[in-house]
Amino acid sequence: MKFCCRGIEGLHQNSGLREFGVFTARYPDGFVFVLQHRALDPDALPPFTESPMSAVSELQLNYCPWCGVSLEQFYRDQVQELDKSELKLGMGR
Ligand SMILES: [Zn+2]
Repeated sequence: MKFCCRGIEGLHQNSGLREFGVFTARYPDGFVFVLQHRALDPDALPPFTESPMSAVSELQLNYCPWCGVSLEQFYRDQVQELDKSELKLGMGR
């Protein structure tokens, strides 16, 4: 697996855990790159609050936020190695 830079590499390894992660997810016509933040560890109990809360937030990326490469172009041949579709909101847990 060849990463464009250490920023993506580190966050890909952290994906699914508390804090930020980066991964790809299957989409009808290919893959999307997802930057995701999780407020809780995977085994954490949900906090007791009656206020609305977002435990997981995410947005799609087109370019690497650190080095600026086009993610679709750079990872064209290895996009499936970054696949963690099960983590994406609305596609699993
Ligand atoms: Zn990069």
